Amino acid sequence: MNARFACTLVAWAGLALAAEKPAPPPASPTLEERVADLERYFQSSDISNVPVRSGERWAPGRVGVSPAGLGVSPGPAHLARAARIVLQDGVTAEAPPKSEAEKAPPAPAEPAPPASKTEAAKPADASLAAVSSALEKGYGKLFEGAQKDEKGRPVLRFAGHDFLFDDGKAKTPEQRIDDTDMEDMFVQVYPLVNPTEKVEKDFDPGRARVEEFFKLLYGGTEAEVSKNLVSVDFCGTKVRFNAKCGAAAALGEVARELDALIEKNPGVKIYTRELGGTFQWRMIAGTKRLSNHSFGTAIDLNVKKSAYWRWAPAATLATFSRKDWPTELIEIFERHGFIWGGKWWHYDTMHFEYRPELIAFSKAAGPAESAPPPAEKPPAEKAPPPPKEPSAKPPLKGADLLVPLKGKKHK
Ligand SMILES: [Zn+2]
Repeated sequence: MNARFACTLVAWAGLALAAEKPAPPPASPTLEERVADLERYFQSSDISNVPVRSGERWAPGRVGVSPAGLGVSPGPAHLARAARIVLQDGVTAEAPPKSEAEKAPPAPAEPAPPASKTEAAKPADASLAAVSSALEKGYGKLFEGAQKDEKGRPVLRFAGHDFLFDDGKAKTPEQRIDDTDMEDMFVQVYPLVNPTEKVEKDFDPGRARVEEFFKLLYGGTEAEVSKNLVSVDFCGTKVRFNAKCGAAAALGEVARELDALIEKNPGVKIYTRELGGTFQWRMIAGTKRLSNHSFGTAIDLNVKKSAYWRWAPAATLATFSRKDWPTELIEIFERHGFIWGGKWWHYDTMHFEYRPELIAFSKAAGPAESAPPPAEKPPAEKAPPPPKEPSAKPPLKGADLLVPLKGKKHK
């Protein structure tokens, strides 16, 4: 979630660049030096444990440069003060706009059920077969199948690289996000039901991500990802999105459908304005994990329409506010392989992320109450296509395959 930051960034950049502001003295640090200073400051600050006061909606501090200039999104008050100190040469912070949520009295927080109850109520068939099927639907021929590693553990192979299916550790929801294996990404099934009435504690389908997996798919460094970005016209705003795995094409389809929806229902338009942004190589606030904005596969819509759990305790959004977001907009994104951060307990309502494997998994799982679909049984004796990269491991032999793949063009 970088949108609050990006929005205020532009506002402050405007302040900094305004003609009536005195020009910075010649000895002022450069923009790059100021960014580096701020990044050092925030990286040395443990912002993950900063208490958020009731009603406080500021995001923790973030630093960065947009085409418009430099900005800081101050966190709680002392971080904001620090930001002003660092930015003493003329760039000052301003309070974020009053949101609807701030004007309305906060809803009473309901006692949340224990996390284990969430999962007991929604058993997921995160079996190797179900996960493999979803990965194949999501990523097509990039997924080369499941086999066993030298220790006999199932691994999932993408472009010659193996990802451990199950590390065998018992994990809390938080641990699944901090130390994720491929199975963990599917343990909570992203719900395709709209609107979202209520989200149970720590129900965050999609927040568990195997970072190395996304690096392989979309680029392992900022420079690598940058090479894969293309421009997409998103409802009148040009945004950069990753062309790999169909992500940019999917966003283009979303935009076309949103344009048509806005024709019918102009009230939706505001959600597609003042975008928080798409590509930005950065860690998730308060963590050492890369945000999927780093891969150019996530888009933040209108910041001013948004709520983010770091701005207010998750319990305050357990039962309301998510419904403010237009159902048709959410359904369009989901139809094209995106998940919505508004369906997370740790909500991020402006955030849409391209995760076609999760949408495929949800469709296969069907409604929460129903049984998983019968296992598909295509012929197992044929070998999959060879890996794309010359340095990749040798192609899987048919006998090595743990899960036969459906719909592959076998040789
Ligand atoms: Zn986001």
